[in-house]
Amino acid sequence: MAKRNIIKMGDPILRKTSKPVEVFDGKLYQLIDDMTETLHAVGGLGLAAPQVGILKRVCIVEYDDKLYELVNPVLLRSSGKCVDNEGCLSVPGFRGLVERPQEIDIRYYDRNGVPHEQHAEGYFARVFLHEMDHLDGILFADKMIKKIIDRD
Ligand code: ZN
Repeated sequence: MAKRNIIKMGDPILRKTSKPVEVFDGKLYQLIDDMTETLHAVGGLGLAAPQVGILKRVCIVEYDDKLYELVNPVLLRSSGKCVDNEGCLSVPGFRGLVERPQEIDIRYYDRNGVPHEQHAEGYFARVFLHEMDHLDGILFADKMIKKIIDRD
């Protein structure tokens, strides 16, 4: 495993649409393992492949001590609305208030190509949606209704 560099806002890679994974091979395993090591090294709730410069529809979410490895995730249903604050490893220096659905159902594949469905609510849903936005070149800063400057 190897830690990878996290790309920051301003780099055009973060604005590109990622391509679906078609082959579930060792290269995919390596990418997911490297992303996990990177997330653990820097701390955070999730990381998407474009943040490490790979334009593939892969992201990881770590929530309540459980790691979710999402390949080709899609949003099946969403309902409700809630506003909460979020930040991003690619957007240092500030956080923002963003409106997102309260509840979602998503479908994704794991690293072995096995499909899964997951229901999520509240902040758990928010983390999935934030990471999935990265796969379409969207950052929370595009959606925020209020900017919150970090105090060091
Ligand atoms: Zn992010």
